[in-house]
Amino acid sequence: MPIVACATNPVTGRSQLMIVSEKESISASSEAYVKMLAPLDENGKIDSDPALAKRVNRITARLIAQAIMFRPETKSWEWRVSVIDEPETVNAFCMAGGKMAIYSGLILKLQPTDDELAQVMGHEIAHALSAHTAEKMSVALATDLAVTAFAVTRDEPGVALAGASLAAALAIKLPNSRTAEAEADVIGIELAARAGYDPQAAVSLWQKMAKTSGDGGRFDFFSTHPAPDKRIENLRKLIPKMMPYYQQGGVRPVYPLKSGHG
Ligand SMILES: [Zn+2]
Repeated sequence: MPIVACATNPVTGRSQLMIVSEKESISASSEAYVKMLAPLDENGKIDSDPALAKRVNRITARLIAQAIMFRPETKSWEWRVSVIDEPETVNAFCMAGGKMAIYSGLILKLQPTDDELAQVMGHEIAHALSAHTAEKMSVALATDLAVTAFAVTRDEPGVALAGASLAAALAIKLPNSRTAEAEADVIGIELAARAGYDPQAAVSLWQKMAKTSGDGGRFDFFSTHPAPDKRIENLRKLIPKMMPYYQQGGVRPVYPLKSGHG
């Protein structure tokens, strides 16, 4: 049984349960990401719509450039984004170390604008910047990894993962705490605004999510991202502060994002 440890997060300043260090969570996430995506890739389920993959890459590359300004050491992360062709799944994630994916169902069902898509990816990147994956891996390991693993991976028997990389794969399926959600909302809208995406889209995105999920469908996004109290109201209050970042002129930097998940 590992020794319980807490660490203060460099971005949020909040003390977190950290049995798994961020460094460990990054290498475990990297392994999990490759193993999770490889069988999907073999079945032609990764970036199968080139235009969509290009759109997601273009938006995400601008957000990553801002993320690196937030936390300069993340420049050494091997940032990646993939579109997973699962039209029924409305979800997205960013693992420790900047390994991201978005499911095609989120695009098909929400029909997000570029500004709204930037809010989704900005929110996910914010989770990684705030070491929420390491925190959730710590929770997975501290509770009972075997039990959690059974509960979470029974849908995906083909994925053979063990130890820390299993915890990393589980971490993206465990719900974030409402505290973590609120942190990701605040950081995400700012990353997007600084990258040149309209902060008002944070409000319209969550409104769309709420409205569309009411029509039925499998919204995994809500199981991993429980709504903090008054999420939409809180985001709306942030808009005036974000507008100057959005409206500032000049060219927005772009991170040289490589395609592929290897
Ligand atoms: Zn979230």
